[in-house]
Amino acid sequence: MANTAKKHTKNIAGAWFCTDADDDNGEGCIACNVCYTGAPDFFTEDENGNAFVKKQPTTPEELALCKEQMEACPVNSIGNNG
Ligand code: SF4
Repeated sequence: MANTAKKHTKNIAGAWFCTDADDDNGEGCIACNVCYTGAPDFFTEDENGNAFVKKQPTTPEELALCKEQMEACPVNSIGNNG
């Protein structure tokens, strides 16, 4: 699970978050663009291409879409226990 102590500062408040690129546990976002390409209503990128959550999912469909991104993230940088 992504490190709750290393959240990107731009995440909107809520359970879902992305970790910051400087997470020294190897779970920092590497700007691969998977999540904000796959679910652009919920994830977006900062000026460096690193992801953060811009909208929290609520419906079952939205939650499933965000879970897909979490499972696809190559560095475990997406969490839903924030
Ligand atoms: S999928 Fe993971 S590594 Fe890729 S942009 Fe999103 S949070 Fe960053």
